[in-house]
Amino acid sequence: MSQTIATPREIEQAIRNVPDFPKPGIQFKDITPVLADPRLFAGAIDLLTEKFKPGMVDAVVGIDARGFIFAAAAAVKLRAGFVPVRKKGKLPYQTIEQDYALEYGSATVAMHMDALQPGARVLLIDDLLATGGTAAAAAALVKKLGANILEAGFLIELKFLNGREKLKGFPMRSIVVY
Ligand code: AMP
Repeated sequence: MSQTIATPREIEQAIRNVPDFPKPGIQFKDITPVLADPRLFAGAIDLLTEKFKPGMVDAVVGIDARGFIFAAAAAVKLRAGFVPVRKKGKLPYQTIEQDYALEYGSATVAMHMDALQPGARVLLIDDLLATGGTAAAAAALVKKLGANILEAGFLIELKFLNGREKLKGFPMRSIVVY
C-alpha cells in the first residue's frame, strides 16, 4: 500500500512558529501549512500510523480540536472508527469526564459513555504534546471505558515540557520533537 512520502524533517520545516499566540510567551506551533500540503499531510498520517495496518486498531481517539484532523484521517486509513475527546459541555449524549490541571486552574475533557467497547484497541492522537495534561486526561477516559491504548501519537512534542512523564506506561510516538 502507500509508502511514507514525507520525512519528519520536511514536516518540521513546514510547521510555522507564531510567537506570543494566543498569549505573550507562548510560541504557537501552527500546523496549517502541513495540512495545506497534500504530500506533507499524507506523510504525517503515514508516520503517525506507521506501526499499524487495517484490522489492528478498532478506534482512533482524537483530541479537541486539531487532534481531530489527524485522528480522523488516521482512522480512515486504518479502517478504524473515530472517537472525539471534547472539552466539557460540547458532546450531546451522556459523557464520562476527566479533570486535569492547567498552569492556572483546571480543565475538563469528556467522551461519550458508549464511545468505546471494553477491550477495544485504541490509537490516541493529538497534534501536539506539551505538558501532557490533556493527553493524560484523554488516556484516562479511554481506560475508564476499559479500552486499551496501543499507542499515543503526536505530530509535535515539546520535549522540554516533559509531557512524556504523564503518559508513562503507554507506548508513544512523536514525529517532530522540539
Ligand atoms: P498540554 O495539555 O499542555 O500537553 O497541551 C496540549 C494541547 O494544547 C494540545 O491539544 C495542543 O493542541 C495545545 N498546545 C499546547 N501548546 C501548544 C503550542 N505551543 N502550539 C500549539 N498548540 C499547543
